[in-house]
Formats: sequence, C-alpha cells, structure tokens
Amino acid sequence: MATDLDTFREETRAWLDENCPAGVRGPGTVPNGSTKIELDTDTRLWLERMVEKGWTVPTWPKEYGGAELSREEYKVLVEELQRVGARPPLTGRGVNYIGPTLLEFGTDQQKAKWLPGMAAGKGCWAMGYSEPGAGSDLASLKTRAVRDGDQWVINGSKIWTSGATYSDYIFVLCRTSPDKPKHDGISLILVDMSQPGVQARPIRLISGSAEFCETHFDNAVADIDDLIGGIDRGWTVGKRLLQFERSTHAGINVSGSEGGRESKNSVREKVLGSQARDNGRLADETIRDRLAAHDMTYAAKELTRLRAVAETKALAPTFASSAVKLSSALNAQEGDELILAARGSDIFEFDFDQPGDNEELKKWLGGKSGTIAGGTKEIQLNIIAKRVLGLPD
Ligand SMILES: Cc1cc2nc3c(=O)[nH]c(=O)nc-3n(C[C@H](O)[C@H](O)[C@H](O)COP(=O)(O)OP(=O)(O)OC[C@H]3O[C@@H](n4cnc5c(N)ncnc54)[C@H](O)[C@@H]3O)c2cc1C
Repeated sequence: MATDLDTFREETRAWLDENCPAGVRGPGTVPNGSTKIELDTDTRLWLERMVEKGWTVPTWPKEYGGAELSREEYKVLVEELQRVGARPPLTGRGVNYIGPTLLEFGTDQQKAKWLPGMAAGKGCWAMGYSEPGAGSDLASLKTRAVRDGDQWVINGSKIWTSGATYSDYIFVLCRTSPDKPKHDGISLILVDMSQPGVQARPIRLISGSAEFCETHFDNAVADIDDLIGGIDRGWTVGKRLLQFERSTHAGINVSGSEGGRESKNSVREKVLGSQARDNGRLADETIRDRLAAHDMTYAAKELTRLRAVAETKALAPTFASSAVKLSSALNAQEGDELILAARGSDIFEFDFDQPGDNEELKKWLGGKSGTIAGGTKEIQLNIIAKRVLGLPD
C-alpha cells in the first residue's frame, strides 16, 4: 500500500518533470538573493516556481515562506531534485545562517519582517563577525553599537566579509556593553547595507579575485527592533548561527535551503583518468594506496554526515556540526592533494583570470580555506574536545 511519503514522492516527481527548466539541470549559477546580480531566464523562473511551492526553505513554517515539510519529506524532495540534476533554487547566508537563527531566537515581529523576504530570495546577506584582532578569539570584537532613540548607531570595522560588495544586508556582532566581561556584552544586529554609513572595500587576493571585503561602519544605523535574541545575548545567538554555518559547510543543515544533498566523490574518477595501468590496476603503488585510503575516509565521512542528519532532533545539529565540518574539509583537502600528486607538476601552469583554466589547481588552492572559514581546524578541534568528548578545559 502506498504511504503518504510514496504519494509525496510521486507528486514531487511529476511536478519537477513539468516545472524544472532544462537550464537549471546541471552545474551553474545558484542565486543568493543579491539584488545586484542578474539571473538568466531559467534560473529566475526556477527560483520563482520554487518560492511559490515554499521549497526554497522546505522545513520553514508556511507563514514565513516555507512548506513545513517533515524531515522525511525534505529528504525525498532533495533526492528527487538530485534525480533530475536540478540545482538548488536559492542559497546563501540568508536562508542558511541568519534565517534558521531567526526562527529560533527572533520575535514574531522579527520573523514576519525578515523571513518571507529571505525565503523569496529578496536580498543577499553578508556576515559581519571577524575583525582585525578578533577571528578565532571572536569575543574580543570591538565594533560598537550605541542606542540613540529608536535606533542603534554602529561604528567599527569588520574584515574577511565574503560577498559584501553584492550583499544587501549584513548581520553584525557588536559590543553593546563594553563594561561587562567580553562574552557578556555582545549583541547581534541586522543592518541594511544600502546606507552611507556602511562601506565595503574589496580585498584583492593573490589569485586576483576580490571576494573578501573590509566592511566599515561609520555611524551606520539599524532599527532598535532589529537586535536579535535580546541585548547582550549575542554570544549565545552568534554561536548558534555559527553552528548553522558549519552545518551548511558540512551538508547537514536541514533547516536551510539544501541540507542533506549527497556530495559526489569525483576524486577516484580524476585520479583513475590520469594514471597508467598495470594489468588493470593503477601502476603507481603509492597513488593506489592513497586512493584506497581516501575512498575509506570519504565513506566514513559520508556515513558520519548521514548519521548527523538522522540523529539530529532539532532542525540543526549542535556541536556535531564541528566534527562533520572538519572531517568534510580534511577529506576534500586530502582528495585535492591526491589529484595533484596523480596529475604531476604540469598542473601548476595556469592562468587565474581564465575561467575554466585548470579548475583542479584552483580547487586545491581554494580548498585550503575549508579549515579556516567558519572557524579554523584548531578551533573545531577545541570544540570537539570540550563539547563532544567532554574533556576538561
Ligand atoms: C573563505 C573564507 C570566508 C570567510 N568569510 C567570512 C565572512 O563572511 N565573515 C566573517 O566575519 N569572517 C569570514 N571569514 C573569516 C574567518 O572566520 C576567520 O578567518 C577565522 O575565524 C580565523 O580567524 P583569523 O583569520 O583572525 O585567524 P586567527 O584567529 O588569527 O588564527 C591564526 C592561527 O592561530 C590558530 N589559533 C588561534 N587561536 C587558537 C587557539 N585558541 N587554539 C589553537 N590554535 C589557535 C588558528 O587555528 C590559526 O591557525 C572567512 C574566512 C575564509 C577563509
């Protein structure tokens, strides 16, 4: 007998066959809500259709733009999307980081104000956490927010703000009570970036690209009601947001737009494609051993990821996000190293400005950030030691 889930799968499959445009099947642009980035016709259509279904944020309440799917239905939806090769309709720090945080800590008025726009892809969000001198030791941050009537007035500087030049809004960790102990005087505030008091200056990287920015706040203002989770509670709220970030990096954020998508292990294919064979086996014994070891850590990482999704009772994992994020990043780096070793030194000839030129080398370089962004490897190991394994400080 067909279960409700079977019926949901059938209906989803039929809807996707009819409504998923050919142009969004396969790799390509995934919108992040930026009002400054033009979308092609199929990508825009796909976003609009999925917004209408509530499937950009499938587990969110309907009143905030979601579809209230159960965890099982969400899994089916993701499987069916992957079956037709559909790209996610929407991604970014809105639907994946601050949205789920607002669902947990926001007042009804804050949720009603911000969540429907996020779910509909109206506005890209930046993350204002790191400062010069406050990265791993984030609680040392100095950006100040002072109340003035019905506004917060914000002054200070953030660094490494990804995508700030094309973002519309930014969530900012600010110091609201400088006299309190450093973890106790912080608040999280939502800020509109289209005001003269907010300036994003791109940081040009060695690769020539400029994805990161310094973001300066010079008497920037925010509505008094846009402080999330209560005054001076920003450390608790901000840490929760980091768990949503880490669980997004790890592919387990089922409160976000694309949690639980199966990642593809392309390392094997790339290594095999570049290697000589000896009676069907890889001729190079070292590469052979490394590939076998990589396949095993990949399988272990995938099983841990699936277990984290299955075991999580709330909509996002807690400290497990650090373990899955770290093992995913390490496994990806190990795979990139292996591809490089298999391909040999000719891979180092490339032109950064040429799209498509030596993607593997660019991936190897870019993959280094996997153990820095969202908290470094050492910080994740500290969290795992203290919060997962219960070791003393
Ligand atoms: C791709 C990418 C995107 C990013 N996007 C954003 C963004 O959008 N918004 C934002 O706010 N930030 C962003 N960041 C910044 C990121 O959060 C910080 O780089 C990170 O938290 C580390 O801080 P830091 O660079 O100041 O290094 P530091 O904190 O100075 O660390 C330097 C080294 O010291 C080690 N270390 C520090 N403290 C300890 C300790 N207690 N125990 C052991 N070792 C320690 C670190 O592990 C690291 O190896 C991004 C970073 C990257 C790479």
